[in-house]
Amino acid sequence: MIEPFLSALPVLERLEAAGYEAYFVGGSVRDYLLKKQISDVDIATSATPVEVKEIFSKTVDIGIEHGTVLVLYNQESYEITTFRTEAEYQDYRRPKEVAFIRNLKDDLKRRDFSMNAIAMDKNGKLIDPFKGQLAIKDKLIQTVGRAEDRFREDALRMMRAVRFVSQLSFSIENDTLTALTNHIDLLENIAVERKKVEFEKLLIGNNRRIALKMILDTNLFLYLPGLNNNKQELEQLQNFQYDSLNKKEMWSLLLFCIDIKEKLIETFLRDWRMPIKEIREIQHTLFFLKKRLQQEWSIYDLYNAGYDNILSAEKLYLVFTRIKESDSIKHWLDLYEQLPIKYLSDMNVTGNDVMEWLNKSGGPWLKDTLLKIERAIVEGKLENNKQKIKEWLMACSPK
Ligand code: ATP
Ligand code: MG
Repeated sequence: MIEPFLSALPVLERLEAAGYEAYFVGGSVRDYLLKKQISDVDIATSATPVEVKEIFSKTVDIGIEHGTVLVLYNQESYEITTFRTEAEYQDYRRPKEVAFIRNLKDDLKRRDFSMNAIAMDKNGKLIDPFKGQLAIKDKLIQTVGRAEDRFREDALRMMRAVRFVSQLSFSIENDTLTALTNHIDLLENIAVERKKVEFEKLLIGNNRRIALKMILDTNLFLYLPGLNNNKQELEQLQNFQYDSLNKKEMWSLLLFCIDIKEKLIETFLRDWRMPIKEIREIQHTLFFLKKRLQQEWSIYDLYNAGYDNILSAEKLYLVFTRIKESDSIKHWLDLYEQLPIKYLSDMNVTGNDVMEWLNKSGGPWLKDTLLKIERAIVEGKLENNKQKIKEWLMACSPK
């Protein structure tokens, strides 16, 4: 067995010592079999959430109604989920209520795809009743059970399938793909928050190009906020080489391609339930990208943009101009690194100094004056030295 399973072994052992069954399940087992980087280790157990909480001293209730408890153990955290079925589904969404069970196989049966329905015990033995290993070998995304039924139970699974196409470079098995194509409209019932999780994983997957094309081919795009009227624009995406963009840059690319008005960016992203901090980051990146497409960076723009925006806007600039071999990112970042100051707070002068020198009380003029000093320092016209700043200011102020 390898890390991170090794570190998690004592958690399985403690559950077993208390008389319950416990296994590693889901994405971690799949990624282990694929020899991929393993993200978080999820554990399934026959113990109920109450029983799990009796065994471990540090726990957090993160989804008790679905049977999930977060256990903090040796500086790591593990999601421990009680074996369950999802017998009754409502509105193609989540089950109305889950039933806790004591049987692993029935728990594996409620999972979405066969590759995600493999369990591994503490000795590394695999329990794979739905031929998940075969699907992994064949690189196939196949539902556990009849695809149509499984998509009716929870339509998000269709979006998860396309997200796994992007993430794993697998194909969707024929029957699963047919059901997906025929029932894509069920996605209408799915909460945006759940769609966003899958869409963002799709945007940054290694095979994102194929997955984004699939979103169009299957009409999945019709059920994505703000994108349902943009078939042509989304098709344009295929003309660009965007594999190295991160999540923020992919959202920026998308917004740029659908040619959204600046005023509407925030509404679009709010409709995706994006936190305001991330919205602002995307707005900044787009602002500097648009400037960059018109002209080269000025020193003052480099300063205002900051490292992260320079990097993102320049990466996007290269995507849009289709320039392949270029050291422009390094060039602009080097220039940024050489700036005399990086932030307003790096200036060797304060508002109080300025008021004292000019013998004036505060007011809007003060901000303007500080901005003037800041710009002169950034552009190398003035040294960042208190005495020099004073002399410069006195020389250019009306007596
Ligand atoms: P990742 O590596 O991206 O986390 P994952 O397979 O672990 O992928 P999660 O969303 O973390 O995906 O879900 C964990 C496991 O829970 C899945 O592997 C699957 O077994 C099960 N699962 C998650 N969502 C669903 C769903 N909508 N329907 C059925 N089973 C699901
Ligand atoms: Mg996971």
